[in-house]
Amino acid sequence: MTDPGCIFCGIAAGTAPAHRIAEDDRVVAFLDLFPAAEGHTLIIPRVHAENLYEAGEEDLAAVAVWSRRIAHAIRRALAPDGLGVFQLNGSAAGQTVFHYHMHLIPRRAGTPLALHGRRRGEEAELASVAERIRKVLARETPASA
Ligand code: AMP
Ligand code: ZN
Repeated sequence: MTDPGCIFCGIAAGTAPAHRIAEDDRVVAFLDLFPAAEGHTLIIPRVHAENLYEAGEEDLAAVAVWSRRIAHAIRRALAPDGLGVFQLNGSAAGQTVFHYHMHLIPRRAGTPLALHGRRRGEEAELASVAERIRKVLARETPASA
């Protein structure tokens, strides 16, 4: 279920800090600490699985449902021009944290494409953007999101 050396297992368990956006019994969503853009969000299953090959189908389905809900909330809260939704499998693909996760990266027209951020986000900025996304999520029922 949990890998003691895994930072995302720590976030899921609440023993490692994160700017949490949403969660249920299967999934946790939180802001990326090195955002490629404002609002860069990660969605993980609570159960540790390294990648797409290892993750269970019900966890993958739950991540997909939350991807859509949070995509709507990001669109409403931040009004990006586009939204990248993707995940990486294996270091050759660019994966750096080996606990399955979906990236949601708001995109602005005319800015260079980047999968990863270069600098750690400012705590106050992360807290503020997390609050903006959470507020929209709280207003909307899952069915209407
Ligand atoms: P990937 O390259 O797809 O494995 O992405 C891993 C992502 O996790 C990167 O975008 C990192 O910035 C992000 N990351 C690493 N450690 C943390 C952390 N403690 N909290 C939030 N995001 C993290
Ligand atoms: Zn893990």
